[in-house]
Amino acid sequence: MTDHCVAKRLKVNGIVQGVGFRPFVFQLAEKFSLKGAVANTSSGVSIHIEGSPENVTSFEKELSEKSPPLAYIVEISIKTETVKNHAEFAIVKSKGQAKMSTLISPDVSVCDDCRDEMLAPDDRRYHYPFINCTNCGPRYTIIDDIPYDRPKTSMRQFKMCPLCQAEYDDPTDRRFHAQPNACADCGPHVGLYDNRRNEIIPHTHAVKKAADLLKAGHILAIKGLGGYHLAVDAANTVAVKQLRRRKLREEKPFAIMSYDLEGIRQYARVGSEEEKLLTSIQRPIVLLKKKKLSAISKEVAPGNKYFGVMLPYTPLHYLLLEHGFDALVMTSGNLSEEPIAIDNDDAFNRLSKIADYFLIHNRDIYLRSDDSIVRYAGGARRFLRRSRGFVPIPVFLKNEIPSILACGAELKNTICVTRQDKAFLSQHIGDLENLSTYEFFKLTIAHLTRILDLDPEIVAYDMHPDYLTTRYALELPADHKIQVQHHHAHIVSCMAEHKLGDAVIGLSFDGTGFGTDGAIWGGEILVAREHEFERAGHLAYVPMPGSAAAIKEPWRMAVSYLQNAYGSNFCNLDLPAVEKIDNGKLTVIAEMISKGINSPLTSSLGRLFDGVAAICGIRDRVNFEGQAAMELEMAALEDSDGVYDYGWGTDGAYKIFTAPIIQGVVDDVTNARPIGEISSRFHRTLICLFTELCVIIGKERELNRVVLSGGVFQNSILLTGLTRALEEKNLKVFSHQQVPTNDGGISLGQAVVAAATINR
Ligand SMILES: [Zn+2]
Ligand SMILES: [Zn+2]
Repeated sequence: MTDHCVAKRLKVNGIVQGVGFRPFVFQLAEKFSLKGAVANTSSGVSIHIEGSPENVTSFEKELSEKSPPLAYIVEISIKTETVKNHAEFAIVKSKGQAKMSTLISPDVSVCDDCRDEMLAPDDRRYHYPFINCTNCGPRYTIIDDIPYDRPKTSMRQFKMCPLCQAEYDDPTDRRFHAQPNACADCGPHVGLYDNRRNEIIPHTHAVKKAADLLKAGHILAIKGLGGYHLAVDAANTVAVKQLRRRKLREEKPFAIMSYDLEGIRQYARVGSEEEKLLTSIQRPIVLLKKKKLSAISKEVAPGNKYFGVMLPYTPLHYLLLEHGFDALVMTSGNLSEEPIAIDNDDAFNRLSKIADYFLIHNRDIYLRSDDSIVRYAGGARRFLRRSRGFVPIPVFLKNEIPSILACGAELKNTICVTRQDKAFLSQHIGDLENLSTYEFFKLTIAHLTRILDLDPEIVAYDMHPDYLTTRYALELPADHKIQVQHHHAHIVSCMAEHKLGDAVIGLSFDGTGFGTDGAIWGGEILVAREHEFERAGHLAYVPMPGSAAAIKEPWRMAVSYLQNAYGSNFCNLDLPAVEKIDNGKLTVIAEMISKGINSPLTSSLGRLFDGVAAICGIRDRVNFEGQAAMELEMAALEDSDGVYDYGWGTDGAYKIFTAPIIQGVVDDVTNARPIGEISSRFHRTLICLFTELCVIIGKERELNRVVLSGGVFQNSILLTGLTRALEEKNLKVFSHQQVPTNDGGISLGQAVVAAATINR
């Protein structure tokens, strides 16, 4: 050692175990001729280095800048130590069974190195569909317990061959401690079966045969990373229609997968931001604007301007798509509304009436994880569903909170558990309307708390008395149970993402949420803090005739808004949307409204969108939640002007009248204005109206921060328009970038509200 030798201790926190971090440190130390050691600890990785000051500085720089793709560094602490004159740099075995509080990596796409090896005829893993390394492959979905070692994963049944074992043991190898490491001699295999479970072709030839069957128009169930997909050739309309019929999915768009970006550009527009999202290691489904002419069947996403598109993310996907498809439909392997199938027995039970053939494999999936869905809007990535590739990366909170379980909402459910300053949202669980989804909900809570080694003492849940999640929470033995109002949770989830503490103005816009007065809220202006909120404004109440039926049938909401705006005279309006309603039905609904029979009151903005869509004649019934509102947004013309009248009254809170807006829409419809123009005016009206109210409330309360949350903000015209208008008034605007703005992100808000409530 020279006189100039210095020593440092670096502690790295974050996702740094099981992601090739120690070999990376080892190679970096070699590069800069440093001596010392690296070891896993209970909170991450600890490094001791010694060498010249310049080299130590270079090491520190590259440690954070060039870390492996799966590593997620939260913090590096550095302190000077005494020089111990190490003879070499070593990877030291972890001491004992320290309580693991490190983070587990999500499942990510196959890396370029592995893909190139798989496609090289002289490689020993040529065409092997389960190739992986420390930089890629399955993680979260194959883990059963911690610590993350092979015996705690679904790879435990495969004993590594000597060649794989040698890679696994070699710190300089890309597969050093890659728990799912395998090859054709020792690892999992695919097999092709018919829907009576007769094996047709085993192993690698199965993939070629599967591609032939897809080309011939058959429906295949394909086992993937987080569950089964149902696949058909996206260019084959007959096959796509057949899949819709068998899956009981009438119009909801199907996601598609293409081999590469060039293929995607044949049918969709890919901007530079979308390209980044598509090629990211998480490989989410990305919403892309359709091109006018393409080979993709119209049945893939009827009535929609967008395709949901992803690139291949498993080796198997690449092998399949190599056979020259424009795109494959790759939709969740389930019947409408059920959880996606993961288990082979379960898949044959549930999917044999949908799929003609099954391309399966024998690496078990311990926990299902649907594909994530994102779009690029308003200058940022927005989640429509946060699942595979992102879970279980936590949201980092502004301070430490107690360990909490938040049960989420009824639709698009996710759960959230917290540990110190980290909030872990689960993968997408789904709509808790049937028993199998409820079972999956309970399974996810058990799994997530087990692999995070948590036993939450506080439970947060929604105020709605009938939610299954509420009943579940009430039956738990926890000491503290905190009920959280839905729209408050929405706003706090966004505050948590942006680490906001003090009071904000919150625009909480969605379809349904149980209010403190028992009404159904959804067009709310809150003045919110983490532990409390005040309802500063809201849409004036209208009845929802038939309750849940009014969500499925927007024409009922149209009648309610029309009756509210015109009284019983609305029947005389020259409106095609009203004329086509059966007279008997119309009388019944009008009576339900005036007498308040099975017609709960609502201030929901989602319902106002539905009502306006129905009045415009866009849709009087929906096949999936939010369909009418989505189609109204799609119809909007970019180059039109005009705003409808609007106004509000006060009785403690601002009560926004819907009648003038409805009257404006009706005038335009009766004057045969184009629907695109009406939609555009309606959006502009909402933007003006809410901006004006935020300015007023901001002045009254001395607040200048506005937080946007709730499913309605999936509407990008409203999100971008409102953001711009508020910013022009010098208000600071915050919207979701880490979790979905819809109910999929709400469990984060519930957890933070509960923590703030307990703390007081
Ligand atoms: Zn790899
Ligand atoms: Zn092997």
